[in-house]
Parts: sequence; C-alpha cells; structure tokens
Amino acid sequence: MCEISEKVRTRDFFPTPKAYLECLNYIQSLVDSRCFLFESKDCDIDRVKDINGDWIDDVISHVIKCKNCG
Ligand SMILES: [Zn+2]
Repeated sequence: MCEISEKVRTRDFFPTPKAYLECLNYIQSLVDSRCFLFESKDCDIDRVKDINGDWIDDVISHVIKCKNCG
C-alpha cells in the first residue's frame, strides 16, 4: 500500500444514514482528486436513493482503486 492509500480513512460501519452519505462524498472526493478510480459501482454516488427517497438496494457497493499502487 502506498502513502496515498495509507491516508484513506476507513470505517467499519455507519451509525447513521448521514454518515454513509458523508462517506460517499468522501469517496467521490478521492476519485475527484485523480488519485483513485472506481473499480466497480452499483450506481453513481448521487443515485443511491430513488425518486421516492428510498435506498436503491439493501446493499450498495462502490469500490475504488488507487492509481498508484492498485
Ligand atoms: Zn495507493
């Protein structure tokens, strides 16, 4: 793991929906920094809820990969 990846904050669970949404914003900021790219994602970061405000699925996954070390 490279220096960039070591600085990434991880969490084991989300105590609130807000914490999860904040984490999604964090993931997007990592991708926007151009150091990471999406390896896979179930949907765009801003599409985790449908038009009714419900989560699109019980499990939503966004996987990112460091461009430097993989
Ligand atoms: Zn890395």
